[in-house]
Amino acid sequence: MDERTLFGLLVDLHREGTRQGPGSDEETVRALELARLDEAAEIQVADIGCGTGAPTLTLARNLPRARIAALDLFPEFLHVLAERARAAGFSRRIGAVAGSMGSLPFPIGSLDLLWSEGAIYNLGFSRGVETWRPFLRPGGVLAVSEITWLRPDPPDEIRRYWNAEYPEIATAPEKIGILERAGYDLLGYRVLPSSNWLENYYEPTEQLIPAFLERHAGRPEALRVVEMQRHEADLYVRYAAWFSYGFYVARRR
Ligand code: SAH
Repeated sequence: MDERTLFGLLVDLHREGTRQGPGSDEETVRALELARLDEAAEIQVADIGCGTGAPTLTLARNLPRARIAALDLFPEFLHVLAERARAAGFSRRIGAVAGSMGSLPFPIGSLDLLWSEGAIYNLGFSRGVETWRPFLRPGGVLAVSEITWLRPDPPDEIRRYWNAEYPEIATAPEKIGILERAGYDLLGYRVLPSSNWLENYYEPTEQLIPAFLERHAGRPEALRVVEMQRHEADLYVRYAAWFSYGFYVARRR
């Protein structure tokens, strides 16, 4: 299947989801605590790969004076985000930005906080933390969640899957080393619990599948997308002890 068809179907499947990847309001708040920001300050925040904005809204609730630029490649997600922001009364503080995480449209040194949940893999962790760094002011904070091995010796099946899907998967000490070499000091690290994968992501996504298949009746590509989604969920259920998202919070030197 060509990339355009795949992305179109993925956006259509996930558009109605509360979130487009594993996570939770609780873990967003905990990561924010690790960032040790002055909550009363008028800070500039960017949420990169924001999807329909689950983390964006949590940030807006917990940083009452922040201005947040919510950036995603897909306008369909941003339309949902803008509506959610309006309904929550945050229209003036959350701005939706259609763009690519590989070429951020912000002034250099302008961000106090650069947030990204379940999205940096699209650029790759090393490349992401390097190319995003100049957009933070010195002392500004980066908070990203990233696929991480919880133990160094995963079984063959899951090792092969991730090495094909995302060869940059590594253990937390390796990821932290990359951050330190790229010019950040670690403020904290947390592992997302399995409820953030199952109850908050795979189970709600499964609920969206029947209507998705109806919208795309007779299209083998849609069946393939469902197969991929279910395969990923099944691997998670069987190998949850071996990998998760690690949440890395680090300060730009
Ligand atoms: N942060 C959200 C969404 C995570 S899913 C959440 O936690 O719910 C990953 C997001 O990255 C998707 O919304 C996808 O559209 C976006 N994305 C993928 N490639 C991108 C790119 N090159 N630039 C910007 N966003 C991208």
